[in-house]
Amino acid sequence: MKPPSFEYFVPTTLDEAVALLAQHGGEAKVLAGGQSLVPMMNLRLARPAALVDLNRITELDYVRAENGHVTIGALARQRAVERSSDVAERQPLIGAAIRLIGHPAVRNRGTVVGSLAHADPAAELPAVAVALDAEMVVTGSSGERVVAADDFFVSYLTVDLSPDEVLKEVRFPSLSPRTGWSIVEVARRFGDFALAGAVATLTLDDQGAASDARVALFGVADRPVRVPEAEQVLRGERPDDDRIAAASEAARAALVDPPSDVHASAAYRRHVAGVLVGRALREARERAQASG
Ligand SMILES: Cc1cc2nc3c(=O)[nH]c(=O)nc-3n(C[C@H](O)[C@H](O)[C@H](O)COP(=O)(O)OP(=O)(O)OC[C@H]3O[C@@H](n4cnc5c(N)ncnc54)[C@H](O)[C@@H]3O)c2cc1C
Repeated sequence: MKPPSFEYFVPTTLDEAVALLAQHGGEAKVLAGGQSLVPMMNLRLARPAALVDLNRITELDYVRAENGHVTIGALARQRAVERSSDVAERQPLIGAAIRLIGHPAVRNRGTVVGSLAHADPAAELPAVAVALDAEMVVTGSSGERVVAADDFFVSYLTVDLSPDEVLKEVRFPSLSPRTGWSIVEVARRFGDFALAGAVATLTLDDQGAASDARVALFGVADRPVRVPEAEQVLRGERPDDDRIAAASEAARAALVDPPSDVHASAAYRRHVAGVLVGRALREARERAQASG
């Protein structure tokens, strides 16, 4: 199918993009990589009256390692971020998450920031953002603001962005010393969206106990979710197999109402989420131990 007709604007600065969005008062949409928006328009699930294309705003195409963060601009393609040595060195969880997204052709066009703004609850990067307490830098007519990842994702395909706002960049904290990480998922075919997935990080102290533990799930709610119940089981404790089994069980029990659809039942998602939390934590533990 073809999309309904729309006006098309190609600003060359962020200010111009914001002004165009403000002019159209909610009828316009930002176009980044187009890997989610264009299929939705073709299926007539989205009918914006105007598109504000970010692709000529070259000032937004960057990946920077600065002030303890990896900062990714709105035009950085997933593939470029996946291949960035700064990302591999400072926050490898981002690259691992991107390698689970679709196929290279999708990642060549799709942007990291576009995936966050789109906020598919089964997407990998929003869950990584929530697990790492990433910061979203938003620019609009009334200036710039910074939103914590946990507040940014509101519900299914809905984020804390006003119609005149652009998500300018995301700041992921760099990996702390003695921290291991993992992202695992179950999908029907390689490259499909996950039926369920888990992100975990574990930081070990000198005694081998977990000074920090993060667990986030995707594909099991209307947005990516942290699982404090599982994190509490681990904090201050040695993450041995029994402790990790208890954390997995806590994650499974905490999932009150996972979605049930043609792809998987709620019961299946709950069970798989528990299994994946265990798998992710064991992998994170191995990496933390190996990091000295
Ligand atoms: C075959 C296929 C398989 C895929 N598999 C996966 C997968 O397994 N996991 C996964 O996570 N994703 C998957 N995707 C989606 C892909 O990751 C998209 O690239 C991503 O979701 C959107 O990024 P984009 O740059 O293409 O954004 P677009 O499609 O251009 O935009 C998506 C939405 O975000 C808004 N938006 C984009 N950028 C901004 C911004 N800077 N500020 C404000 N709003 C913005 C747009 O207005 C639109 O509403 C798949 C896509 C395809 C086609």
